[in-house]
Amino acid sequence: MPPEERGGALSEAVEPAAGYDGPRLAASGSVRVRVPAKINLHLGVGPRRPDGFHELTTVYQAISLYDELTADRADRLELVVEGEGADVLPTDENNLAVRAAVLLADHLGVPPRVRLHLRKQIPLAGGLAGGSADAAAALVACDALWDGGLDRNELATLAADLGSDVPFLVPGGTALGTGRGEVLSPVLAVGTWHWVVAVADGGLSTPTVYAKLDALRDAGTVPAEGVGAPDELLAALRQHDPRVLAAALANDMQAAALALRPTLARTLDAGLAEGALAALVSGSGPSCLFLAADADHAASVAARLTTHGVCRTVRTAHGPVPGARTTP
Ligand code: ATP
Repeated sequence: MPPEERGGALSEAVEPAAGYDGPRLAASGSVRVRVPAKINLHLGVGPRRPDGFHELTTVYQAISLYDELTADRADRLELVVEGEGADVLPTDENNLAVRAAVLLADHLGVPPRVRLHLRKQIPLAGGLAGGSADAAAALVACDALWDGGLDRNELATLAADLGSDVPFLVPGGTALGTGRGEVLSPVLAVGTWHWVVAVADGGLSTPTVYAKLDALRDAGTVPAEGVGAPDELLAALRQHDPRVLAAALANDMQAAALALRPTLARTLDAGLAEGALAALVSGSGPSCLFLAADADHAASVAARLTTHGVCRTVRTAHGPVPGARTTP
């Protein structure tokens, strides 16, 4: 097996669950799902709740950076990963795609027999929710493979057990997330937005960034009230003027990500110097996002940003795009 492709069987052949009354597999033997990355156009972080999660007010957008998951019939549960992070990602039940398949199988009362093949392009631990995306993809793929017949709301409800960002990656598009991010409301967003994504070397752990934000707030280094409600951002999304949107983008996690990775300031400055309309850290970082006026502008900002040597790689993307979907 090449080093960039790892995986294997997670279990011996699994016996059907008690009460399972026969195969519920789809006629076709293979299902392919494409799932996008997410960005946060507004990420307001409230106080830490008694359950350890922070209260969030966020506006998600799904963008055109994709992972692809293929689910095939098998006599056991196995996962193979190739692409971004394949050398470090777990292929056992610590992988969110596997956890999603097991959760869905339990819910449907079917044995978790599936071979998952994950082709990752979404950078790992980059603040782009790649792991959550793979979980959403696995729910959609396995539901089709096992003929579960769950609708998108049922899948999103299951998704909330897997992580705060997973429910959004089922419908995708643009949405308001509250609670810990899993309570979704639709958002009216006009047109398409163009982004440049600067992918950093190495990831940042989301819990570490939250802990840093708490520490900065406790020390009074950053204001505890944060960026507040996303009213300005929601109004900007209805206008489709990139300059208006640029002024409304906001991320409470940015100060903590910059404190942990000060070199990100150089990345943000470089994008602005090359003409981006706005620059911000993506989610908990360390990926950085730049808003462009249109697709050509995004391509030229990306090309020039590449020459600064301030990140591992630069990609362009547009949003909103749909969430996890089967593809031919
Ligand atoms: P978020 O913005 O939701 O915090 P992120 O983009 O910062 O996410 P992920 O790429 O989702 O981070 O990865 C976070 C961690 O989750 C990884 O370090 C990895 O150990 C774990 N993980 C489990 N399954 C996956 C998966 N399929 N893809 C990526 N990471 C996974």
